[in-house]
Amino acid sequence: MELSKTFDPKAAEEHWFQLWVDRRYFKADPKRSGEVFSIVIPPPNVTGQLHLGHALNVTLHDVIVRMRRMQGYNTLWLPGTDHAGIATQNVVEREIAKEKVTRHDLGREKFVERVWHWRETYGGKILHQLRKLGASCDWSRERFTLDEGLSRAVTKVFVMLYHEGLIYRDYRLINWCPRCETALSDLEVEHKESKGNLWHIQYPLSDGSGSIIVATTRPETMLGDTAVAVHPEDERYRAMVGKMVRLPLTNREIPIIADESVDKSFGSGAVKITPGHDFNDFETGRRHKLAQISVMDIHGRMSAEAGAYRGQTREDCRKNVIADLEGQGLLEKIEPHQHALGVCSRCDTTVEPMLSYQWFMAVNKPGRNGESLAGAASKAVKDGATKFFPKRWENTYFAWIDNLQDWCISRQLWWGHRIPAYWCQKCERPEPVVAEERPTSCPRCGSDDLKQDDDVLDTWFSSGLWPFSTLGWPEQTDDLEKYYPTSLLITGFDIIFFWVARMMMFGIKCMDDVPFRDVYITPLVRDASGKKMTKSRGNVVDPLEIMDKYGTDAVRFTLAQLSVQGRDLILSDDRLAASRAFANKIWNAARFVLMNLEGAPQPLPAVDSSKMGLAERWILSRLDAAIEKVTSEINAYEFNNAALTVYQFIWHEFCDWYIELAKDPLKAGGERQAAARYVLVTCFDRMLRMLHPFMPFISEEIWQALRPYMSEAGLSDHLAVAPFPVGGESRLGPEEASAMDRCIETTEAINSLRSLAGHHPGQRVTAVLRHEANDDADHLGNWRDYAMTLGKVADLKVVPTSEPRPPRMVFAPLNWAEVGVEAPEGFDFDKARASVKRKLEETRGHLERHQARFDNPGFRAKADAETIAEIGEKIEELKAQEKVLSAQLEQLK
Ligand SMILES: [Zn+2]
Ligand SMILES: [Zn+2]
Repeated sequence: MELSKTFDPKAAEEHWFQLWVDRRYFKADPKRSGEVFSIVIPPPNVTGQLHLGHALNVTLHDVIVRMRRMQGYNTLWLPGTDHAGIATQNVVEREIAKEKVTRHDLGREKFVERVWHWRETYGGKILHQLRKLGASCDWSRERFTLDEGLSRAVTKVFVMLYHEGLIYRDYRLINWCPRCETALSDLEVEHKESKGNLWHIQYPLSDGSGSIIVATTRPETMLGDTAVAVHPEDERYRAMVGKMVRLPLTNREIPIIADESVDKSFGSGAVKITPGHDFNDFETGRRHKLAQISVMDIHGRMSAEAGAYRGQTREDCRKNVIADLEGQGLLEKIEPHQHALGVCSRCDTTVEPMLSYQWFMAVNKPGRNGESLAGAASKAVKDGATKFFPKRWENTYFAWIDNLQDWCISRQLWWGHRIPAYWCQKCERPEPVVAEERPTSCPRCGSDDLKQDDDVLDTWFSSGLWPFSTLGWPEQTDDLEKYYPTSLLITGFDIIFFWVARMMMFGIKCMDDVPFRDVYITPLVRDASGKKMTKSRGNVVDPLEIMDKYGTDAVRFTLAQLSVQGRDLILSDDRLAASRAFANKIWNAARFVLMNLEGAPQPLPAVDSSKMGLAERWILSRLDAAIEKVTSEINAYEFNNAALTVYQFIWHEFCDWYIELAKDPLKAGGERQAAARYVLVTCFDRMLRMLHPFMPFISEEIWQALRPYMSEAGLSDHLAVAPFPVGGESRLGPEEASAMDRCIETTEAINSLRSLAGHHPGQRVTAVLRHEANDDADHLGNWRDYAMTLGKVADLKVVPTSEPRPPRMVFAPLNWAEVGVEAPEGFDFDKARASVKRKLEETRGHLERHQARFDNPGFRAKADAETIAEIGEKIEELKAQEKVLSAQLEQLK
């Protein structure tokens, strides 16, 4: 098989991916032996569109999954999507709005049908995009959070926790989005700094002895006040505690109470208490057994409780309340005031704390085994049953889970898992029947008129069960037995709370074991100038576009190479172009090797190490070392280091050195040619296996072309399932290893001297090695030819240091000797020295300026950590440059 002149990523990507899937290479088999490596994909929303976060996440998954599969693990990578309750419902609502229809016009059943239809049509898009990235998931096991099996798991968990007293219904204050008309969890509320006012309002005392001034940011909610509170030690108000005030704009009287939670320094020190519309007030109200009055309805309009303001929007009501207070002379003053405003993370509408009946999960209450859900999830990480990479994210996890409030799990949506609670319509039983199957009759009155609860569950309830529900739970399936707990979770830090912590709680509760052993938190992707990618900045990179432009392999390699634990990932076109150049370099190397295999037997006869030259044994040893390093780096989730190791070996050691060194033996014919051919193919084979997890497509394509020459017994059909290589024992003795080190050092020195002396790059030069007379020069015989070939040396003299330096030569020190290159005719040493000197001075100037900035405490206080790190790196770079230039100055003496 021949390779075309240039690599065509698109053709290779389509061809190989389809073939791998057709051959069922990614299909897991629980019956197979072998150590298990299992991963469930973080399910993207069905509404999702591939973004760089997914691309990064899937690339890192695929790197490790492909390596484990090749290492012989019983590997499962399970894909699927999330029904994404509120997000999907919003998408379909927008769609039907184009037909001038609302979901209420359609009714629940018809609307849900529309959503399913939407999902059948568009819901597979995101998974298709993941396949384009090369994701080696077991596509036959694809799951959906609303599919039948997963829905059964959701019902089962709900019923189980309800009967254990860990799920309950309560009338409480919750976050409400008046546009989405649903409850939201705290996590679905975003806080924005907002410029508002602090209104100071007079509340007259009922006994006519004066008034008390309260300060509030939300005057419209005063219609629901049920008390005024002051601090018990506030001298200003001590005499007023226990008195009643007349609530303006209403005809109600409310008490003045004392409560420790009041901040004496805020506003006037007296605050209104509105348990129906403020979380703190709700708690205060409970302590003082105050009434809870809701003055708004679910649409965010004022309710009957708001009296004359009934039917007004929140915004209009505020204006009218202020105007009316002013008219009655009760508005004391208005101060500008900044405060945090909660908005719905889905639609940006201001969230309203609302009283309503909702379902909650008790996270701190001990269950039957005496452990609370949050407590067990916290303990598992403290005990190391689950480990975070980087470790510092564990603190973030603890900060949240150790301070967790009960989770509001009900949503007033239509798209989702409907709560398995059934209400008797006849006897109005205060408690519903909670059961896995719909009961046929009411256990109290026997009526069959039962209505299922209208609410659905928060989307994160079903995704919290994902690691075991997808494996078949509650059935005791082979998959569940074999693949739970999963080995690793790779995810972004932004869903540690939403998802990771909830999977921990559910996994431990239902499976009695953590859902995953390791959690790797991916870096945040930023643009080339270090800015976060956001739609509003317009700097969002579309992964499909860059895959199209640079090839999927190059995109994958770049993302892996930039994944440094604990650092943001800065993506630039330069990096992508460099990865594409890397792919081309490998392609060209493969073409060179194939050209030199013309007429060679298939497979090539194996060549024993003892019949190989030093260069052959050296490159095989270097390859072994690289393989060992890559393996341990991927094991430690150091994706960047692993990619760098692969890159360094292929580009510098294999292409730059070995291919060059193989050119002579390839021409020589006979045993030397046979050995070089064998080593080129062997090296390429093992190197491609090491590269495959990062660049699956190009590696498979080249491997197929070289496969006929490979002499391994029982060779697999495709690279995707070929064994991952293991490093062997070094084939070099210590003396030989040091001989190759000397060869490389000498050749590099000759090449840099050649350019310093202004030789034409192809020019063959005269070189001199000066070394101690007693130095054993025998080893030189092993590599003298290599250095002469690669250093383009016409004549390499060896002289003892006792002899003076020959004239007209530039010299460089080596670790063990000194090497010189003759300058060309007419080379002006003085001019060259002056030029180097000038560069050296410039470099020192830069270095001083950067150093001064770096050391300046004023600058350091203001700059962000990344800028400081960048300057630090620049300083190191300049120091290295200074060293090179100083050395050159010496060399020109
Ligand atoms: Zn909303
Ligand atoms: Zn009944």
